[in-house]
Amino acid sequence: MTDVAEAEALVFQNMPEWPSVRTATGTSHGRVLRETVVAERDQPPFDRVMMDGIAIAWTDWTNGQRSFEAIGTQAAGAPALALTQPAQCVEIMTGAMCPEGADTIIPVERLRREAGSTLVVETDDVEHGQFIHPRGSDRREGERLLEPGLRIGATEAAVIAGAGYADVAVAALPRAAVISTGDELVGAGEPLAPHQIRSTNDFSIRASLALAGLAEVTCKRLVDDATEIADGVAGLHEDHDALILSGGVSMGQFDYVPAVLRRLGAEVVFHRVDQRPGRPLLFAVSRDGKPIFGLPGNPVSALVCLTRYVIPAFARAAGLKDASPERAALSEPVTRSSRLTYFMPVRLGWDEQGRQTAEPRPTNTSGDFISLAGTDGFVELPKGREHDPEGTVARVYRW
Ligand code: AMP
Ligand code: MG
Repeated sequence: MTDVAEAEALVFQNMPEWPSVRTATGTSHGRVLRETVVAERDQPPFDRVMMDGIAIAWTDWTNGQRSFEAIGTQAAGAPALALTQPAQCVEIMTGAMCPEGADTIIPVERLRREAGSTLVVETDDVEHGQFIHPRGSDRREGERLLEPGLRIGATEAAVIAGAGYADVAVAALPRAAVISTGDELVGAGEPLAPHQIRSTNDFSIRASLALAGLAEVTCKRLVDDATEIADGVAGLHEDHDALILSGGVSMGQFDYVPAVLRRLGAEVVFHRVDQRPGRPLLFAVSRDGKPIFGLPGNPVSALVCLTRYVIPAFARAAGLKDASPERAALSEPVTRSSRLTYFMPVRLGWDEQGRQTAEPRPTNTSGDFISLAGTDGFVELPKGREHDPEGTVARVYRW
């Protein structure tokens, strides 16, 4: 039997790295960045005016000048005008280049317009260089702005576009086949007999992978028949990068998955992990090196194993840099009847000091997927003990 840390290490060691592809920056959100993004120009690229108003020369101000003659108006996007004589100003808009010879902005709210183009400053509160965002004060041309391994979100999308990249290198989205095995399984919307159940693992697995932006998912259901499973797995293996099976990995008479995988030439890297739920978990590598996960069929076990192993494995294959692990303190003690590593569903919250807390939300057996709705994920409670007191800090995995 493999322990949780060993199982995780074995999965990571055997994951391929997905290739990089270029994608339009406008649709790159959610993907994992695979290149260093470099500043196209100084940022800001020119001395950028930050207020609507007038641009003046500070020397005029220190000489006591309070009334200025506008030589023109300069909008954002217009080339810079130039002050050539004392007591001149340019009427200037936010986002414009600071005019040549000007170095201070007086906001429009502090001005009175006199006849024609004369503007009088009605405040003494003016500082040299005010309301100018100096060229290059954020970043210099050629500076590294983003490193590979980030997930592209709103802030990263802006940086990539701001650096002029119309497209960007990201990790290719792998094609994952989710194969639910079981004679009893019937899809939503299909008629069902009393001895049958709705198949739910395909839905939870698809939702999890898709929401994490880590795979393009195809779902397939197969009955418990060794030949059917072998044919189904062999067919899907062809045009998918990874296979995720659910069900059929335990010790029952109809649990064909381990034997079928071996028959197809896959190497079973481990089968069964010291954990609850999810003990029957299997991980194999196909003859062409593609990862194959055999998740237990029980819906809580399937989703826990997916979240604990498959999602991190796909994140790693995409090159996503490890974020620091999320943790929370138990808001109630947890007592369990097993000394295996224990995954307890939780609802996350905060205590009065602002620390994250995990409220245990045990399910009624690992078949009780309904109780998972409304939980945020689970905590991993280490093996070798049966009692974890309130306040125990544990690693959190979100669904
Ligand atoms: P198994 O791992 O095949 O022994 O299945 C364990 C339990 O999980 C059984 O009660 C199955 O009916 C149930 N189960 C298996 N596959 C699914 C599925 N796709 N959706 C919901 N329940 C399932
Ligand atoms: Mg089964």
